[in-house]
Amino acid sequence: MSTALVVGGGPNGLAAAALLASEGVDVTLLEAADEVGGGTRSWEGLVPGMLHDHCSAIHPMAVGSPVFERLDLASHGLSWRSAPVDCVHVLDGGRAGVLLTDVEETAAGLGPDGGTWRRLFAGPAARYDALAEDILGPLLGVPRHPLLLSRFGAPTLLPATVLARLFRTDEARALWAGAAAHAFTRLDRPLSSAIGLGILTAGHRHGWAVAAGGSRSIARALTASLTAHGGRVETGVRVRSSADLPPADVTLFDLDPPQVAAILGDRLPARVARAYRRFRRGPGAFKVDLAVEGGVPWTADAARRSGTVHAGGTVAEVAAAERDVVRGRMPQRPFVLVGQQYLADPQRSAGDVHPVWAYAHVPHGYDGDATDAVLAQLERFAPGLRERVVALRVTRPADFAAWNPNFAGGDILTGRKDVRQLLLGARGGLAALAPYDVGVPGMFLCSAATPPGPGAHGMCGSHAAQRALRHLRSR
Ligand SMILES: Cc1cc2nc3c(=O)[nH]c(=O)nc-3n(C[C@H](O)[C@H](O)[C@H](O)COP(=O)(O)OP(=O)(O)OC[C@H]3O[C@@H](n4cnc5c(N)ncnc54)[C@H](O)[C@@H]3O)c2cc1C
Repeated sequence: MSTALVVGGGPNGLAAAALLASEGVDVTLLEAADEVGGGTRSWEGLVPGMLHDHCSAIHPMAVGSPVFERLDLASHGLSWRSAPVDCVHVLDGGRAGVLLTDVEETAAGLGPDGGTWRRLFAGPAARYDALAEDILGPLLGVPRHPLLLSRFGAPTLLPATVLARLFRTDEARALWAGAAAHAFTRLDRPLSSAIGLGILTAGHRHGWAVAAGGSRSIARALTASLTAHGGRVETGVRVRSSADLPPADVTLFDLDPPQVAAILGDRLPARVARAYRRFRRGPGAFKVDLAVEGGVPWTADAARRSGTVHAGGTVAEVAAAERDVVRGRMPQRPFVLVGQQYLADPQRSAGDVHPVWAYAHVPHGYDGDATDAVLAQLERFAPGLRERVVALRVTRPADFAAWNPNFAGGDILTGRKDVRQLLLGARGGLAALAPYDVGVPGMFLCSAATPPGPGAHGMCGSHAAQRALRHLRSR
């Protein structure tokens, strides 16, 4: 029987491990923390009986993830829940751009911009299942649906600020800019539309759903699938060097490239080691988890029913804040993402006190205190919020890095998503055609540093596992 070792138990490591185990490989997964899950963990206790997600919260790309379907995670307890509204981008004066799962309903709410929204999203959303085979894989791969992909792909090349000019109203422009800002990059750069178009299109097919029982349910379902196929998980084991790697036919790293370089040392070809050490990190996240009595008093009515709220003002404000954080400057008014998962999954609340998840985009490694900046952005669109806050907990960029080196400097996307790294990956050059290979036979990278990139969809793990299976079969 072939053996596999997976280092790191985030959603990608777990998906890779479960997939290999389902193919009859004897799998061991080593995880540094006391529990698996990485970015899909949840915690209780800000207020007794209340559940918060540590990291990932909203899952447009995970709901229909081909690997989650292949592993039949529903049979291992994973189910999805949706709030009445998917996402709202709040503006001053109670105005808002409103995203609903249905393209037509979204378009109807966008007034003169409805037609443009429909033209951008109706076609790709209707054919999302086929499109997903291409957009949830390497950007430089051979497309399975070239025509469909080229129609979807053309706008992804545009800077998000240029695409915003297709819209006439502040509401539609801001709704678009907030989605594009998930890329944590300058919105006036080519390809900065790619992630926004991806999550909006996926959302119009599957909704911006949350996992029932918290994002930890994703990790639990993946672990159940792994162990059902005979795989083993060992927690509390941090791999620091080659000496910590038990022998295996294939080894997969759910880690950021600099860690792989440190662990493998001289075993890596010099060119790969150099590229991995130079891996470019993205800006940071500064998170504030809140317990809010009666929920956030958003001025915009739709925001009180929305699973996700973007608080960052107009497209110009969002673009300026993103440019600042990329340049290493803390904006006075940062872009803040707010999760109100309890609206979809009410068991997370403690009576009328509700868990609210919020984080701001800040410069990489930011060591100041952004708590007030986050609360001020929320208060701007929800006056009276502060009086309702019963408890709060802050997670700074250094805290993210301390419990998961993949998030060094608060870089929760595991690497900057600029043109170079989006297209060429961690190794660059021709090696971009084999983004999961680390250059040592039988060893593969499977983290969010590889295509299709960040998110709790497990697809980086899936592609790396397929690559590992091909290696095992070719021996
Ligand atoms: C605040 C925040 C909000 C987010 N919001 C969303 C969202 O709403 N939707 C979404 O889809 N995604 C979201 N993400 C991103 C998502 O969580 C990540 O993209 C995803 O978790 C990446 O998965 P991964 O398996 O590649 O790695 P990770 O989740 O980073 O897991 C890596 C694992 O490896 C372990 N590890 C690290 N080093 C070692 C070592 N040396 N030895 C052994 N184990 C090690 C870590 O402890 C960790 O468990 C968010 C992330 C954060 C932090």
